[in-house]
Amino acid sequence: MDFSGLPRAELTDDGGKPLEAQLCVTAHIAQTVAEALRQNWAVMAAGGLTSAIGSYDYKAEDVADRFKGVVAIRPKGALAAERVAADTPLDQILTHQVAIAADQGLVSAGAGLTFTQVNAALAEAVGPTSRILVDLTSIASAYVGGVVATGGMGPLRLLPSASLEAVCLADGESTRIVEGEALGTVEGMQGWTGMVTAARFRFYDVPASEFGLVLPVQGSDVDTVAGLLAYLHAWTRITLPAPGGRITGEGGDTVLNGIELVSKDSLEAFIAHAEEPARSKAEGLLQSCEYAGADMLACLTGWSELSIDDVLMSLLDPETETIGGVMIDFGVGFSSGAEMETFRAIREGAPDLARTRARVVQPGKLKPWSTSTDINIIMPADSSALVAVLEAYADYRGAIRALGRELAGSIEVELSAYGHLSPMGIDPHHRVTLFAPEGGEAALAAARLAVAANKRTLIHDLLFAAERHGATITGGEKGAPSLVEIARAAGGEGRLAPALKARLRKARAAVMAAPANFSFRAPKELRTED
Ligand SMILES: Cc1cc2nc3c(=O)[nH]c(=O)nc-3n(C[C@H](O)[C@H](O)[C@H](O)COP(=O)(O)OP(=O)(O)OC[C@H]3O[C@@H](n4cnc5c(N)ncnc54)[C@H](O)[C@@H]3O)c2cc1C
Repeated sequence: MDFSGLPRAELTDDGGKPLEAQLCVTAHIAQTVAEALRQNWAVMAAGGLTSAIGSYDYKAEDVADRFKGVVAIRPKGALAAERVAADTPLDQILTHQVAIAADQGLVSAGAGLTFTQVNAALAEAVGPTSRILVDLTSIASAYVGGVVATGGMGPLRLLPSASLEAVCLADGESTRIVEGEALGTVEGMQGWTGMVTAARFRFYDVPASEFGLVLPVQGSDVDTVAGLLAYLHAWTRITLPAPGGRITGEGGDTVLNGIELVSKDSLEAFIAHAEEPARSKAEGLLQSCEYAGADMLACLTGWSELSIDDVLMSLLDPETETIGGVMIDFGVGFSSGAEMETFRAIREGAPDLARTRARVVQPGKLKPWSTSTDINIIMPADSSALVAVLEAYADYRGAIRALGRELAGSIEVELSAYGHLSPMGIDPHHRVTLFAPEGGEAALAAARLAVAANKRTLIHDLLFAAERHGATITGGEKGAPSLVEIARAAGGEGRLAPALKARLRKARAAVMAAPANFSFRAPKELRTED
């Protein structure tokens, strides 16, 4: 195969500069990887291309003189998954194929499928309530291989490895099957240790209907949010049964699979760009916010055998007639399929808009600079830990808003907060985007440094709060890059809690053991002995 004759991959680095890479789309990843290595090409695995800005960055000096060039290998997708025999070995599954072993509760899926496609195949083969518990909000666009490689997680706050049985990894002449503890050498490693060709997941049965419940949270008082989360703790605890089995929670018939935050200003920004029917519904929610004097909405999602009205009653504290101190008078329920689509459009509207604005260059302006927080913290059930963590975020928001006022007239500072606020993992993403006029490079550079310093303070405060209150920082939803960022903010790996330190050590060992053809993109902290 002549890799140099392939078209260029349309990938850019963090600064918007096109990356030097050829693109190879293939259903046969193993053979293509082996051939690329034989010809001494560096391999950059590509998936659904939905990941964070900067995911494909690499330094030209890490490639020059060492490799013939970089080839971005992307698994070939399909409109729908092609079903093959249940006993097809994992290393024989092509990128667009699934093998469903219904009696064992296992599904093997090719790297080029989305989880929506895999769940559709499960619905057809097993039943409509069967699914893999991977719930990223990009579930319909991110690929199986990319999700495993990033270690992405959605509102449920479960890593792919929570239901991952094995992956097939192409990292040399032949493939190998990675299982058990060793999955940590692939999950969250961004393709720096090899390329996922297929993955085998355990699937589960979930209660029949999915619901959404939006509650305006009065004031921006961290105690109110902390009280709500502490109260809902039991409904968020899911017990994973044997593969194929029914998932259950401590909340009986109802399982909460996500508690997400949408701030009132994000909702307003969404309304300005939204289309019907989501726009009218979002306007209704904004009105609820105003009636309730609320600054944010808590968006609860879950599965239940109950009707939405009965779910509401079952979540209610009979003594206070509130849900964890939050009044239900202005709450709005969503239950049918179409309603849930609208609900998701609203819930995801804010992050979508923030990501798009961060990528698009506006006329007369420099390319925006953007950074987002990603640090997942599993909380104990008491609210003091929650308060400490939420206060750290409130301080960050305050500092960024103050910076915005200070820079007004030269740099525009945009802050958007959204994301996961569940006791099973607090990770409210705070995206800060800076817009500078053309010629404003120096001012932009100074503003970047100021935002980065505030972000380091936030991560530091979160590490401290977690240590003091018995919470556990598990990294972020960008796998190893989030770990490295946390270590940098902490002032070095030595300052991390033992569990995080151990994960970084394992990540380093995996990167150092991988062929340089993959590991050339890894941060330098992972490519040198500690
Ligand atoms: C609308 C939207 C919503 C999102 N919601 C979430 C969310 O809820 N939670 C979350 O965690 N993230 C979320 N993301 C980010 C993104 O979807 C995830 O990081 C996702 O896991 C990336 O998958 P992908 O297939 O697009 O990978 P890509 O973006 O193509 O690649 C990501 C990284 O994985 C590597 N890679 C890709 N494929 C392979 C492979 N086969 N083998 C080895 N390495 C590979 C790439 O080299 C790259 O480093 C969201 C993004 C968008 C646009």
